[in-house]
Amino acid sequence: MRAQSQDLDDTTDFSAFGLSPTRLDAVAALGWTRPTPIQERGIPVVASGRDVVGIARTGTGKTGAFMLPALERTREGGGLQVLVLCPTRELAQQVAEDTRALARGTAVRVATVYGGVGYGPQLEALARGDEVVVATPGRLIDLQNRGRAKLRQVRILVLDEADRMLDMGFRPQIEEVARGLGRDRQTLLFSATMPNAVHALALGMTKDPMWIEASPPGTMAEGISEVAYSVRPERKSDLLAHLLAQPGWDQVLVFSRTKVGANALEARLTKAGISCDVIHSDRQMSHRTRAIDRFSGGKVRVLVATDIAQRGLDIEGISHVVNYDVPLDPGDYVHRIGRTGRAGATGGAVTFVTASDLGAFRALENQLERRIERIRHPEFDFSGGAVVKTKERSGARSRSASRMGRHAGVRLAPEELAELLSFDS
Ligand code: AMP
Repeated sequence: MRAQSQDLDDTTDFSAFGLSPTRLDAVAALGWTRPTPIQERGIPVVASGRDVVGIARTGTGKTGAFMLPALERTREGGGLQVLVLCPTRELAQQVAEDTRALARGTAVRVATVYGGVGYGPQLEALARGDEVVVATPGRLIDLQNRGRAKLRQVRILVLDEADRMLDMGFRPQIEEVARGLGRDRQTLLFSATMPNAVHALALGMTKDPMWIEASPPGTMAEGISEVAYSVRPERKSDLLAHLLAQPGWDQVLVFSRTKVGANALEARLTKAGISCDVIHSDRQMSHRTRAIDRFSGGKVRVLVATDIAQRGLDIEGISHVVNYDVPLDPGDYVHRIGRTGRAGATGGAVTFVTASDLGAFRALENQLERRIERIRHPEFDFSGGAVVKTKERSGARSRSASRMGRHAGVRLAPEELAELLSFDS
């Protein structure tokens, strides 16, 4: 895991938590030698049976923080006991995979329940009484309404990436699922950020919780270098191609604000001979799974994703994350760049900033309470050209700074120039 040594007692290892030898073997098999801060603080509290509200993003090791003690208390053959609710199928798959690894050496079965795939295996898993279910709320409610998901016996409810679930409008579903559970349960809520809505959910769902914060929201993980490139809008794909040609840009995840933009970028990169795939909500689940597999297996170098994919992706070895468009939400920014530099690897996070993104970019920095280093590459930089195109027919002026000169260049007004150059300020 990435170094967060200031939070760690050097002598702490997993044996300090009183975990069973089987669990310690599973942890060792994963190569985890020292608990991460959220594990160090969370495991004893979860083991004590107390509710937890954890402020921790994906990438901090939170799955281990709740699942290790949850598995300790799971009875093999005792039916469904641990229910994890996640915002996306990708995160559900990831949490289930991690849980299976942590349950190594036991007969505990872990099922996933999410939409977009057939009901058969999910119904079987529920009928069989798999001990752990990792689900997205929509499909789970569907099965609950059909009387196929019996949740009364659930002892531990985990709400993973609660902020994202609320962003996706899952609050009513979360509450409905919770009503189907017994009162005598432990609730563990994890969220990268703690806006009022999540705070309210946490207060409503938990009893006397211990609040644990792995790192303050918006804090950078160590090992990730962050930069922002000044870029003219029409040069964005060229800048990306230029960066992809740099040494070390091996596995690159690119976030695009729009599906249309993502598709266009895929076409552009494919044309340039760069292996690339796209995931967004219009692509079928099977396509998304295949794309992620191909990317994580190194068969495809670049994966372009819209917001839908930004959480839950846990692919080892991503060298760089590119925000092709400035993310508007600091939580999104932190999540996205958290895809890189995972588990000890170093990584780079690059954000493309056009002149019209400047306001949003500065607002993002203000909210993150840190400044991101600016880079102005003369070939792509929007302030270097300092010209605007004049659209002769409509008369509308659009700032584009094309040096190609197909339209007559007009010098910028001083205040416009100042705004452009303030990328350096
Ligand atoms: P999570 O935040 O649970 O998604 O975990 C992020 C990544 O860190 C996963 O790939 C885990 O396998 C890995 N990880 C979790 N805990 C540790 C640890 N104590 N040491 C090393 N890697 C870890």
